[in-house]
Amino acid sequence: TDCSVVDLLSGKFSVGQVVKVKGWVRTRRDSKAGISFVAVYDGSCFDAIQAVVPNSLSNYEEVLRLTTGCSVMITGEVVESPGQGQAFEIQATGVEVIGWVEDPDTYPMAAKRHTVEFLREHAHLRPRTNLIGAVARVRNSLAQAIHRFYHERGYIWVSTPIITASDTEGAGEMFRVSTLDLENLPRNDQDAVDFSQDFFGKESFLTVSGQLNAETYACALSKVYTFGPTFRAENSNTSRHLAEFWMMEPEVAFADLDDVAALAEDMLKYVFKAVLEERGDDMAFFAQRIEKQAISRLESFISKDFAQVDYTDAIEILLQSGRKFEMDVSWGIDMSSEHERYLAEEHFKAPVVVKNYPRDIKAFYMRQNDDGKTVAAMDVLAPGIGEIIGGSQREERLEVFDARLEEMGLNKEDYSWYRDLRRYGSVPHSGFGLGFERLVSYVTGMSNIRDVIPFPRAPKQADY
Ligand code: ATP
Ligand code: MG
Ligand code: MG
Ligand code: MG
Repeated sequence: TDCSVVDLLSGKFSVGQVVKVKGWVRTRRDSKAGISFVAVYDGSCFDAIQAVVPNSLSNYEEVLRLTTGCSVMITGEVVESPGQGQAFEIQATGVEVIGWVEDPDTYPMAAKRHTVEFLREHAHLRPRTNLIGAVARVRNSLAQAIHRFYHERGYIWVSTPIITASDTEGAGEMFRVSTLDLENLPRNDQDAVDFSQDFFGKESFLTVSGQLNAETYACALSKVYTFGPTFRAENSNTSRHLAEFWMMEPEVAFADLDDVAALAEDMLKYVFKAVLEERGDDMAFFAQRIEKQAISRLESFISKDFAQVDYTDAIEILLQSGRKFEMDVSWGIDMSSEHERYLAEEHFKAPVVVKNYPRDIKAFYMRQNDDGKTVAAMDVLAPGIGEIIGGSQREERLEVFDARLEEMGLNKEDYSWYRDLRRYGSVPHSGFGLGFERLVSYVTGMSNIRDVIPFPRAPKQADY
């Protein structure tokens, strides 16, 4: 019977059963007694299964040449492992080498501790390491748990477009899809134009957020979310920004800011719990190797309420902290990560929800508060990272929305479809965006966001 390493190690097969395992060699060790121990992994779990290979095998001479990375198929009997680590191992009766590693001395993924910088330069080979394999499994668990969370609560998953003309954040961080000078297209010679260069003559960009589109579905299906790739032309080399990242955005009709703040907290606790249950092996590795608190802090955040604070009070806390920040603190600033991390790591020592930000630093669609100075916006800040979620109640009152557009110098016509949601059966509604890689960073403790997405896209990084 074919079987995966995870099934074997978790005891799905009984002692004495003959099984076949396919995978790659992690390590090989030979004893003087003419026995080799070959550890084989297949990515299904953190651990490798140990095959005990006797020199009586006809191709034992090949076994002695196995090196890290060789692909093999091992046949043998499941036996109880006498060693400390694992419950089971395989008493091999056959070892078939599927693929050799040519020149093992120069194999980049040799079994040793590599720096993350080195691994990043080998993005096509790095999933073979313990570290990046663990990241991939945790990332998968988190994504599946997110879908499960929303599905169990009756949310509809909506796919929003990647090519768009609308700039959700108004922050000018959009990558252009159209490259031609559209104003000066040849008048009567449109056929001569290569439309692959300019999206059929329509100025367009890669999306920075699916929110506006998600709103249209929330104002019809009540509870929706989108989860997909998002792009931002931020030419900054930080450890928390990518040019291409995944965002998960729920949008809820008849919900206010407090409702979605509670939703964010429930969702985060749900996925923390799922990952601890499903990926205990990988999380133990992160706790040992990357971030001591990786497991304990998730456990503690599941069991207690997230902190909540008004932006205005958060600024006061920063001012009173006696801390010298690189960027000065005053009411009205868009907090930088040092401020956010101080609040989460040192002041509240927990994820913290900051609410009611100054309207002047926030996007046009956020709902105005009665004080005339703030909007119903929130950020969720996580220790070690800072902002992982940004959200708001949306402005549902047409007159207020129009006045804000005008004030910001935005064009009513450009937003006519969005205004329609306010013209026909408008409802209060709210939502947020979770940066998926920031979540994976937080859970694993991996400090650079480029190491938690398979193929990072950052300035000058797009080869493979
Ligand atoms: P920041 O202040 O950190 O630049 P933002 O306020 O610009 O983030 P939002 O527009 O609120 O980001 O987007 C929602 C979420 O998407 C953020 O809370 C964050 O988790 C994530 N995010 C934003 N920009 C990036 C990026 N360049 N790479 C990865 N994740 C991002
Ligand atoms: Mg930003
Ligand atoms: Mg921000
Ligand atoms: Mg934000």
